[in-house]
Amino acid sequence: MIKLLVIGTVAYDSIETPFGKADNVLGGSALHFTNAASFFTDVGIVATVGKDFNLSDIEFLKARNVDLSGIKIDDGKTFRWEGKYGYDLNQAITLKTELNVIETFKPHVPGDFSEADFVFLANIDPVLQSSVIDQIKKPSAVVVLDTMNFWIENKLNELIDVIKRVDMLVINEAELREISKEHNLVKGARKIMAYGPSCIVVKRGEYGVLMLNREEIFLAPAFPLEDVFDPTGAGDTFAGGFMGYIANMGNTSPETLKQAIIMGTVMASFNVEDFSINRLKGLNYAEIRERYSAFKKCLQFGDITLE
Ligand code: AMP
Repeated sequence: MIKLLVIGTVAYDSIETPFGKADNVLGGSALHFTNAASFFTDVGIVATVGKDFNLSDIEFLKARNVDLSGIKIDDGKTFRWEGKYGYDLNQAITLKTELNVIETFKPHVPGDFSEADFVFLANIDPVLQSSVIDQIKKPSAVVVLDTMNFWIENKLNELIDVIKRVDMLVINEAELREISKEHNLVKGARKIMAYGPSCIVVKRGEYGVLMLNREEIFLAPAFPLEDVFDPTGAGDTFAGGFMGYIANMGNTSPETLKQAIIMGTVMASFNVEDFSINRLKGLNYAEIRERYSAFKKCLQFGDITLE
């Protein structure tokens, strides 16, 4: 029985960064998310791929208890994204988005997936995200949403309808500004909370993460790395660490949410060290624990002792 359900893209990406180039490599919001979340909990993916997709490339996830049975193979080509980054690695420039099989996708949530306690609607068409919410059986399920500029610009009304139905939003700062039409992130987040979500997690690339709920604000910087190779998927990997940790704990208490933010940040820091899903594919728990501890040390300081 899975604990965490994700819908999103499973993709082939072509990426150029100042440090190299990778063509037709594994990517997609659901895949990056699952690659991280599966270190902490049992994940089920709902997605579509085309006949050109080599499923054996993601079979390694089964060893981490990922249920791949919700991935549908449809006639046509797999979703493709082409992007590049200049020296500002916070800013992905989309060169091409080919929706392919996504265009006609009708997500079906398998019976046992629909009982999941935690649901992540990764970046994909908001109409598909909505149809997954319709199929969730547990009224108590915690539903979390991500999106990106492509959908804000093409399907804003549909996206707002989904925002009204979720518990939390995990979103990039530029996208929060675009939806809320507020430059200030705190104001923008409060505006979105008025639609319904009780918690907004703002991803700020190398500047870290800002979390707001009705009671408090929590901040975490990014883990200070010397070499960042490819930021693609960092946001989804963050969300995977965040949600995977929450599902593992089985609650959304303030303390769990804060630790989940740190775990998301730790997982994202690994993802950017290599292209595609490669770094997390070979990652182990000792490395995760070591970086979590190193990060905790960076964030500790004493009280003021001034007279
Ligand atoms: P990020 O975590 O924001 O860097 O997400 C990068 C991943 O998002 C890539 O692996 C892409 O395949 C995927 N992606 C790019 N554009 C879209 C889109 N419009 N909808 C869903 N997924 C996308």
